[in-house]
Amino acid sequence: MKRVFLGLGSNLGDREENLARALDLLGGDPRLRIARVSAIYETEPQEIAHQPWFLNLAVEAETSMFPMQLLRYALGIEREMGRVRRVAKGPRPIDIDILLYGNFTIRTPRLEVPHPRMTERRFVLEPLLEIAPDLRHPVTRLSMREHLAGIRGQAARRIG
Ligand code: ADP
Ligand code: MG
Repeated sequence: MKRVFLGLGSNLGDREENLARALDLLGGDPRLRIARVSAIYETEPQEIAHQPWFLNLAVEAETSMFPMQLLRYALGIEREMGRVRRVAKGPRPIDIDILLYGNFTIRTPRLEVPHPRMTERRFVLEPLLEIAPDLRHPVTRLSMREHLAGIRGQAARRIG
């Protein structure tokens, strides 16, 4: 079993309902056990500004899936929930990112772990800090709090 952290986001439709459904689907496979789920954070969109605000949360889980299996599984849930890929970084009912997979470093065209942009995103780091305060990034060796200290702006509000 490997300890993994996932980042979930939604900014289309009933965002809370989408997050809840994605958690149900994720935990519905015997190869993945959800250990902790953060509160929900409402966050300002990054990179493409003119789109609805997101709801984000972070999940800690244990899984027997290999990294590519986990990615396929996550993308399958995105598809099942009606995600149509139009614009990269654009609006979506659900986005599921693999943030960390144990201490693995993976750099392939289809999968990069640790997620390459996680250390620049408040919407990833705030919920992660909440559920794993002692976590260190396996490559930078910095804590999530230390990464957060370097981020300016990017509104994020914990909504419980
Ligand atoms: P973003 O999540 O950056 O807004 P997308 O969700 O549209 O972008 O991009 C999804 C693609 O990113 C997937 O097809 C997948 O192959 C690739 N990808 C690379 N690394 C990861 C990762 N750690 N977690 C999820 N998807 C990843
Ligand atoms: Mg994604």
